[in-house]
Amino acid sequence: MQQNRTELGALGEFGLIDKLTDGVELNDNGTVLGVGDDAAILNPSKGLQVVSTDMLVEGVHFDLSYVPLQHLGYKAISVNVSDVAAMNCVPKQVTVSIAVSNRFSLEAMEALYSGVKAACQNFKVDLVGGDTTSSRSGLVISVTVLGESSNNQEPVRRSGAKEGDILCATGDLGGAFVGLQVLERQKVEYLANPEMQPDIEKYAYVVQRQLKPEARMDIIHELSELEIKPTSMIDVSDGLASEVFHLSKHSGIGFNIYEDKVPIDRETYNTAVEFNLDPITCALNGGEDYELLFTIDQEDYKKLEKHYDIHFIGYAQELSKGINLITKQQNVVPIQAQGWNHFNEK
Ligand code: ADP
Ligand code: MG
Repeated sequence: MQQNRTELGALGEFGLIDKLTDGVELNDNGTVLGVGDDAAILNPSKGLQVVSTDMLVEGVHFDLSYVPLQHLGYKAISVNVSDVAAMNCVPKQVTVSIAVSNRFSLEAMEALYSGVKAACQNFKVDLVGGDTTSSRSGLVISVTVLGESSNNQEPVRRSGAKEGDILCATGDLGGAFVGLQVLERQKVEYLANPEMQPDIEKYAYVVQRQLKPEARMDIIHELSELEIKPTSMIDVSDGLASEVFHLSKHSGIGFNIYEDKVPIDRETYNTAVEFNLDPITCALNGGEDYELLFTIDQEDYKKLEKHYDIHFIGYAQELSKGINLITKQQNVVPIQAQGWNHFNEK
């Protein structure tokens, strides 16, 4: 339970901004001036810049009955950094804008910002500004990230995959979706019986995949060190099937994916089965894994062959051959894109 509660109204907008941005450090050489003036001042190095925005809305993207505010702040930064990673770029600065109702206290907003600051430190980005406004209903957090191409390479688009390229996925897939099922079930159980103790240990990994995803900047740095430039790339926000469709559409190419090569963590697998879900369906249609999906030229395969966390799940082929899953029984099943469509929900 909340110990202290300082009303936002008592603080005012400027007081709140001061509290939230207190202790923010600037570490990037390209940041000349951060929070405090009418605009931040940046000094980008030569090369191309990328910019991306993502907005999280209470009741649409998150449910505060089981999402801790620190994790929400962390996730808001991480999902934006993931978009920059998916361009083979390095994040430099972020702005964070919030709309907040008087249901929230200063302490709650400080918790949100502790997550924002932790993610900024982790991903080495500077928080250089934002906007703060009131909301009649719930919490909205919108982040904009600026980045630069890594190693002075051109950013990697969704459009460069060619026939014969190898399709790679990082980490493991489906966990965030399964974690969401666990959290939703615990919410229902809690509402029925507030005395209930959630079984956290057993589902720790999948719940963490949902609540606190990590953008794969580690992979971007490794690819840069190995001098590998993917031919196309995207991050897995809506599920493997949906992302493969994007690569296909933009590159004008088909794909075959091998079911037995799709990386699924043991806990994800077991929990999916417990929920009567097909683990491969969770990986294909779940989403929010924030792993990277990319294609490489066959020539680069040797350099990545032994990588502990990059999985070779398929290959690019003629567009007319379509996008298929080769099942464990060697059946060829066309894949349907069922990415999360917010406009089709309830
Ligand atoms: P203005 O009225 O010029 O828009 P604001 O009072 O909104 O200025 O913001 C003052 C400073 O605080 C600006 O540098 C702005 O970028 C920063 N800022 C405002 N809200 C936030 C926030 N939620 N997070 C980080 N920085 C913020
Ligand atoms: Mg403003």
